[in-house]
Amino acid sequence: MTGSPLAGARPPAVPESPADVGSVLEAVGDTPLLRIEGIRVKLEYLNPSGSIKARIATYMIERAEREGLLRPGDTIVEASSGNTGNAMSMVAAVKGYPMLVVMPRNVSTERAAISRAFGAEVRTTGDFHVNDALRTARELGAQPGYFAPQQFDSEWNVDENRCWLGPEILWQLPPGSLPDAVVGGVGTGGTIIGVGQAFRAVNPGCRVVAVEPNESCTLACGEIDKHLIEGISDGFVPGVFDRHRHEVDEIMAVDSADAIEQSRELGRRYGLFVGPSSGAHLLAAKRLRRARPELGEIVTFLADEGEKYLTEHFT
Ligand code: PMP
Repeated sequence: MTGSPLAGARPPAVPESPADVGSVLEAVGDTPLLRIEGIRVKLEYLNPSGSIKARIATYMIERAEREGLLRPGDTIVEASSGNTGNAMSMVAAVKGYPMLVVMPRNVSTERAAISRAFGAEVRTTGDFHVNDALRTARELGAQPGYFAPQQFDSEWNVDENRCWLGPEILWQLPPGSLPDAVVGGVGTGGTIIGVGQAFRAVNPGCRVVAVEPNESCTLACGEIDKHLIEGISDGFVPGVFDRHRHEVDEIMAVDSADAIEQSRELGRRYGLFVGPSSGAHLLAAKRLRRARPELGEIVTFLADEGEKYLTEHFT
């Protein structure tokens, strides 16, 4: 019996359904954890859209969908000094939502251009810091047909870091070792607070250290001024940080110039091309190591990629 010439061949392909196609959001997370100069550094700049914020953007938008707060056709509106706006623009593009990012005028031209590249509308406000942008986003977000994730105030921001980024790092630490400290700059505070909660669940004595620019030490001394560490110290104390302030053990100040120099050094010595906040994080973590040699694993974040600062800091 010979049978049909097609016997044994695979059945004809069925056209792909949207569920088969997948999306770039599958590449969010699972970033490497390196050990540099005695510090564990999490390479969050490798996330799609180039920053740590790909995580909260994915998490907050998908949770809003699940909880019925975001419906097809709604516009997502978010105030952002850059990275969250870029990340939410990416997620909105994948999911087909119109996106409006409200940014303070001082953010790098690259940041605004990246959101536009994802099809988002970018509106800039006059303020150097994020305050004006926040007000605009909050007003729009209250209108029907809009959803405003509000990263600076939402507890979902902390939830993501406690449930996703924090546990991911715990898995990556060498077997048997526990984190003794987490160090990170405060934009919203979501990263250090949420990761700190995850770490304290396994090591209650884990130190949580906030980093801010020396030139604008808002958290430690109430000052608001210009500085060059984009993405942190946006000119106010965010609700997320304020509610969880008691979970923070220490606030360290880093000079903008030192942070930029350390970020350049990361590129030259290790091939890690990252922005100034990453330099500030590593500097603060190394300072903590010197001040408290008894600490074991100290964890920090390389939060965003250097490309976003090419014209500002790398030419
Ligand atoms: N570094 C950079 C480059 C950032 O964009 C941000 C967030 N704006 C942070 C650090 C701080 O993250 P968080 O908002 O979780 O405090």
